[in-house]
Amino acid sequence: MPQKEKCVICQEAITNPICPECLQREVEHWLADFNPSLVPKLRDYTGIFDAYTQDGVNCIICGRDMRVCAHCFCKDVYQLFREQLGERAEDFLLSFDFELNREAG
Ligand SMILES: [Zn+2]
Ligand SMILES: [Zn+2]
Repeated sequence: MPQKEKCVICQEAITNPICPECLQREVEHWLADFNPSLVPKLRDYTGIFDAYTQDGVNCIICGRDMRVCAHCFCKDVYQLFREQLGERAEDFLLSFDFELNREAG
């Protein structure tokens, strides 16, 4: 498998490429429903992933190059917001089910 088809974080094949920016939009929408104050923090955080947007596979939504899988992105976001989410944390896992349950514990 060509290196560019693998996630730079977990080294797994990116089978359902959705770039951090598109995922961020989804998560933002979800967050805005119950805690809009977390949105700026999410945006700041997503900026980190700009480093992984060259020479990868194309996002199925916007076509942008990307090299991080949805699982890694959502897992990081989940860990970032876990405490603030409180009882909604479970809901996050269900809404962004990129195999997060596998590791969330
Ligand atoms: Zn990954
Ligand atoms: Zn995209």
